[in-house]
Amino acid sequence: MRRFTVSPHTDIRLVSPPGVVLPDVVTVWFPAKDGFELNFRHLPPVPGTPDMGPVMLVHGAGVRANLFCPPGILTLPAMLSAAGFDVWILNWRSSIDLEPSEYTLDDAAVHDFPAAVAKILDVTGKETLKAVVHCQGSHAFTMSIASGLLPQVTRVVANSTAMTPAVRRAAAVKLPIALATLGKFMDYFNPQYGLHPPSFGAKLMDFMVDVTHHECRNAVCKHASFVYGVGFPTLWSHDNLDPETHDWIKGEFAHVPVSLFRQTHECLKVGRLVPVLNYPEISAQLGIEAPKTEAVFTFITGEDNHTFRPVAMRKSWKFFNDSSPVPPGAPPVHGFMQYPGYGHLDVFIGRYAAVDVFPDIIGWLSEDA
Ligand SMILES: [Zn+2]
Repeated sequence: MRRFTVSPHTDIRLVSPPGVVLPDVVTVWFPAKDGFELNFRHLPPVPGTPDMGPVMLVHGAGVRANLFCPPGILTLPAMLSAAGFDVWILNWRSSIDLEPSEYTLDDAAVHDFPAAVAKILDVTGKETLKAVVHCQGSHAFTMSIASGLLPQVTRVVANSTAMTPAVRRAAAVKLPIALATLGKFMDYFNPQYGLHPPSFGAKLMDFMVDVTHHECRNAVCKHASFVYGVGFPTLWSHDNLDPETHDWIKGEFAHVPVSLFRQTHECLKVGRLVPVLNYPEISAQLGIEAPKTEAVFTFITGEDNHTFRPVAMRKSWKFFNDSSPVPPGAPPVHGFMQYPGYGHLDVFIGRYAAVDVFPDIIGWLSEDA
């Protein structure tokens, strides 16, 4: 296969909040613990703002750091920087900006996130940081932090899924069928096949998308809907995306290894994260024993999420709170928020997310500042 199916390291163009001049985004490379080359897109805080400390943003699978940065709307990184946060958007090994690899959640949990946290703390001289994590990035991050590998993380906002993944019945039926058919022909699923199918398996997949998806004319949007669940579209509501963002996503979705979907299938079968490699660093009792972290979580999801059901986050919320007992009458440690009218990813790239969602995230991340 071609090494990259989209242009790597595309410049990030951020819309500035009114009256604010944002610093430039710079790329900071560092090695994961196994030597895999990762990077951050680093957006420093706006000068003159209060020091809110570092926050790490973690994307999902088959996308990249840019995904938090649609071109024509006010974004979460821009608003965080304007609020005084030092923003580190991670390209972990699932990023389409990096060398394709057949990774698992375990690999990222053990090798990527501990190295990423160490790099931020080393550069900034801080002792702690906060995190916003999404989808498969949230799975891998949760695996890492619950195994006690990220003691320096104090607050986390996790979107869509975390410790207890759950999908709609149609998606649960479709995934093993896709693995047993398409998964036999290819090592990667790739929404770019909607534009350039390079092989028999890719052409077969493109045909299946063509006959089942008629909701828009954006081939990558339709392939992303096919790959990430059952919906028309799956990852967002078209009403929530402005036309520029809908067009821009053509370049933001690419290869995801079938190895990750196989692991996701194992997790869905038991309803919690399941390690598939034998790293001693990862708890074998993941999702059963109390998470080995003191971080405070807020679990968020869209009410119309067609990728992971909202109950996935409710269960994670309950699991973390059951593991963090409080005195009678005291509020629970961890929070939950479900956004009406939103789905899986439009909480980050929706045209009104800067009004409906980002102020909440900034509020939760600021609570102990
Ligand atoms: Zn579309």
